[in-house]
Amino acid sequence: MSRGDMAKPLLGHRSTEGDLSTTPAAGRTIGVLGSGDFARSLAIRLVCSGFKVVVGSRNPKRKASLFPAAAEVTFQAEAVKKTDVIFVAVFREHYSTLCDLADVLAGKILVDVSNNTEINHHKESNAEYLASLFPACTVVKGFNVVSAWTLQSGARDGNKQVLICSNNQEAKRTVAEIAQVMGFTPVDMGCMSSACEIENIPLRLLPAWKIPIFLALGLFLCFFTYNLIRQVIHPFIREQKNKLYKIPIEVVNTTLPCVSYVMLSLVYLPGVLAACSQLYYGTKYRRFPDWLDQWLQHRKQIGLLSFFCAALHAVYSLCLPMRRSHRYLLIETAVKQAVEKKMNIWVEEEVWRMEIYISVGIIALGLLSLLAITSLPSIANSLNWREFSFIQSTLGFIALVISTLHTLTYGWSRAFDENQYKFYLPPTYTLTLLVPCTVIIAKVIFSLPCIQHRLLRIRRGWEKGRYVKFVLPSATGEFSSGETSSNV
Ligand code: NAP
Repeated sequence: MSRGDMAKPLLGHRSTEGDLSTTPAAGRTIGVLGSGDFARSLAIRLVCSGFKVVVGSRNPKRKASLFPAAAEVTFQAEAVKKTDVIFVAVFREHYSTLCDLADVLAGKILVDVSNNTEINHHKESNAEYLASLFPACTVVKGFNVVSAWTLQSGARDGNKQVLICSNNQEAKRTVAEIAQVMGFTPVDMGCMSSACEIENIPLRLLPAWKIPIFLALGLFLCFFTYNLIRQVIHPFIREQKNKLYKIPIEVVNTTLPCVSYVMLSLVYLPGVLAACSQLYYGTKYRRFPDWLDQWLQHRKQIGLLSFFCAALHAVYSLCLPMRRSHRYLLIETAVKQAVEKKMNIWVEEEVWRMEIYISVGIIALGLLSLLAITSLPSIANSLNWREFSFIQSTLGFIALVISTLHTLTYGWSRAFDENQYKFYLPPTYTLTLLVPCTVIIAKVIFSLPCIQHRLLRIRRGWEKGRYVKFVLPSATGEFSSGETSSNV
């Protein structure tokens, strides 16, 4: 990235999350201890944001050329003397080597930006360790969730949040102010005891994705094995035909839509279970069981994985005619027909089935793409609650219905053909229909006026057995309030 690029204006000043109120800070001198990757990126971003920067290095002469000309690079003690706020861009292992600076550092704010290599690596957090080494300083944990790359490219291209914690409210406010001027969004994470949690954040590997990924892999494995038995093992055992060539594309391509379809229904099933629980207990204030809570929280990831499998299924399907095996089979069929002197092989029903099957498949994929795109934070933030809920809830449900049509037109009458029951196993698509159809039927039942009305009342605070003021939607869709008694 060029210097000119970095000099372009950053994001406008953002409101601080948490209770950190901010005041303009640009122009003040900020110290940086260390001259590594992070220190360099930090210095560049600070300079571009209008701060004076003084870098403290053990070897300033050698390192000076690596920093912007506007930044002063000097010995550690010299740098520390010139500022009240110092970013410690040094690894935890080397904190003790800074102890000689304890006197000059006394009374100053130290910003601990360090990360560990393992979750909960040390008994105490790095920030707490730094505070124990320099009891006369005020330590603030912050900026560790921002990478050197994000600092260089500017907050607009990377993660914008800077998590901050400290036992000193004033010091925390000062660091929040600096982060804000740099174009980041400071988030108050409370006192120093949160430092450990903040230090663990960059080390977590897709925490929200673990359960959905295991779920997708589990489903893939089950359906893959089932399809393998039907498409490869059955012809081998019954007719001694070698169909192993089907494994890489055909078996995978019959497995992917099954996973995608079931995963899509699993996005809507917890909502149905939650509604059942609310209707049964007649309240929305009863906590859902933990597993249902977890499930509700992972719906976005489950939906995105469903889209991923659907997209792969589309690509695999497009590639089916490219395979040599497909060409051989096509020629073989043509030769057989020529030998049998069959001229017209057009089957009207099959033609229609295929046209409808592909068309609804394309529509379902289009809707899934829309759901995936609108789940991205940048797009989701540009939608109001009603737009978001319309797309994710209504269009999502329509996508499930259309996917069901896609599955049904694929299966057509095969469920009634006994030749399709290999080893007495029903065709795979009949199995995949179970959960989605349950969800669709439940949704239809919930949309019956008597049930919908009761559910709506519960969701607006009404409770079975209690007098509660509640709000009902009027026929025009606007809300009107009323007083009601329970049905008990
Ligand atoms: P680095 O490139 O290895 O730089 C570390 C710097 O520490 C060195 O350049 C050195 O500067 C200084 N230092 C002071 N005392 C030292 C000693 N006794 N031995 C060795 N070096 C000493 O590391 P970095 O990537 O900049 O990371 C610095 C800190 O930022 C770490 O705590 C890291 O966890 C944190 N961090 C880094 C990133 C990132 O993307 N890189 C992101 C978040 C947090 P002098 O030789 O000039 O004294």
